[in-house]
Amino acid sequence: MASPAVKPAVVPAALSEHAIADVCVVGGGLSGLSTALMCAKAGLSVVLLESRAVGAGMSGRSSGAAPAWDPHGFATIQGRHGRGVSRSVARARGAGLDWVTKTVRKEKINCGFKEVPAYLLGGNVDKELEACREVGLDGSTSHEAPAGNSAGAAKGLKLNRLPGGAAELDPVRFARGLAEALERHGGRIYEGTRVKSGPFTISGKVVTLAANSVDGPIVRASKGVVLATHSPINRSLAVHSRQSPWRTYNITFELPKGASGVPDALLYSLDGHHARVVDSGAGRRLLLVGGGDSDHVVGQMRERYGNKPPFDTLEAWARTTFPSAGRVVQRWSSVVFRPADIMGLFGVNPLDVGSPKTRLITGTSGDAVVGAAMGAMAVAGDILGEAPEWARVFEPSRLSSLGNLGSLGDLGTEVGLNVRGYARVLTPTCWRDVVGLVAPGSAERAIKPGDGQVVQEGLRKVALYRDEQGTLHRHSALCPHQHVLVQWNPVDKTFDCPGHGSVFDPCGRCVSGPSSRDLEDLGWRREDEGRGEGGGNLVK
Ligand SMILES: Cc1cc2nc3c(=O)[nH]c(=O)nc-3n(C[C@H](O)[C@H](O)[C@H](O)COP(=O)(O)OP(=O)(O)OC[C@H]3O[C@@H](n4cnc5c(N)ncnc54)[C@H](O)[C@@H]3O)c2cc1C
Repeated sequence: MASPAVKPAVVPAALSEHAIADVCVVGGGLSGLSTALMCAKAGLSVVLLESRAVGAGMSGRSSGAAPAWDPHGFATIQGRHGRGVSRSVARARGAGLDWVTKTVRKEKINCGFKEVPAYLLGGNVDKELEACREVGLDGSTSHEAPAGNSAGAAKGLKLNRLPGGAAELDPVRFARGLAEALERHGGRIYEGTRVKSGPFTISGKVVTLAANSVDGPIVRASKGVVLATHSPINRSLAVHSRQSPWRTYNITFELPKGASGVPDALLYSLDGHHARVVDSGAGRRLLLVGGGDSDHVVGQMRERYGNKPPFDTLEAWARTTFPSAGRVVQRWSSVVFRPADIMGLFGVNPLDVGSPKTRLITGTSGDAVVGAAMGAMAVAGDILGEAPEWARVFEPSRLSSLGNLGSLGDLGTEVGLNVRGYARVLTPTCWRDVVGLVAPGSAERAIKPGDGQVVQEGLRKVALYRDEQGTLHRHSALCPHQHVLVQWNPVDKTFDCPGHGSVFDPCGRCVSGPSSRDLEDLGWRREDEGRGEGGGNLVK
């Protein structure tokens, strides 16, 4: 089963001197690793830079489901974009799953890969099944559900077999296997190497980017740079304003031995829930559920759920749908990026007129395994001059796909969130802010150990976190990426940027981008009036 705690895949080696390559890939998640491997196998020299360890980003938090079916639903895609585009999406998904299947076998990646059937839960799914048939999703690589049952579903729960193949795997082991394959094919991986955000310098025929600090070692890539950092670490409004950051939640439950009712399969509902049974070793089987109405736009948790954590909403759905779900074993959440037109963004960075190009893979909307393979095929194919014909529907500069009510509505929501985020930087938004405006520092005492808050301190907003030992860590509450105001997330104990989805740990360190920098350190304070300057987080 995927574990949020990820250890380095290969002996970490940070980039310590300048490097030259055909292609430089930034980000060692499934998108970056797949792209790098495709380029290396085609004979290009590839350098991959990863700020932590390969698989340590969202890929390591994925539940490892890989359906050919698109979890947005083909009826929705067809409704928004028409039959031609939805057929391209179906072809892309089939090709993505096929690449994953063949790569696991060819590179002998031991990641628990298993072909399984996929089902849509509940009634009222005829329109979706009809749309699947229309786009030509077939069942050629899937097989009948095995007789063994496990999840103990609610009585009368209808299962509708989805056409197209599906598979499941452990994403962390898959990422490690891809990294090892990349090295076998001559690729160079540097972990612990954080690339500073663009703009990247384009000089003549090379793109250069600096690692770890602005004057750090430089990689010169003659055929281009691929930003596979989940959300690109650039400031391109043409990308960041067309996708929203969402928090999505996963829970695993114990399953009693002999629980029956549902085959081992990927299970989906049209309201966005997903579930499957995972083998956690020693014959122990767990029910993994996620998604649905527990998901929310980053920073909107309190507005949507009040003080009730979204995990409760997800757990309630799971217990109604699978009554034999036992004790909760693990809960985790993270950020995924959803484009306004529900289509991934794979290709050249919009408005990039230089040469060589910077390319992106983002907006996979919680779809790591197949989505990453599709993104990699589109981007590596473009670099190699052999992009698949379906790739054009995912071009990041497309505008036509926004011309429908659904996409325009989602785009409006994203722009609105940004405007609100900026407005909150300038104005007090609650009575505590007003008090903080006239009496800076007054809110600090109310923050309990283990808790955080964004408060007004005179004219500025400050992100405060009091650790269990009582030390108050103080950081600027402005996200370094685009200066949107971050918000405290009490469930994950992080500061989240509602504008573009960057996440910072309570001590201000950047956990995931698009920011490539930490929150500005404003020093620390202790109850005993101890104080420290900024420039380093206090470790007691
Ligand atoms: C709870 C949850 C469950 C999910 N379940 C599924 C599922 O069942 N099936 C599925 O297909 N998808 C699932 N997903 C979605 C999936 O995890 C993501 O969409 C996917 O991992 C994105 O892959 P990526 O390679 O683009 O990003 P990541 O895996 O996040 O990789 C990006 C990498 O870039 C690195 N990086 C960032 N900034 C820099 C920098 N400045 N310099 C160098 N490196 C940098 C990061 O450290 C990271 O390793 C799930 C997601 C979540 C949160």
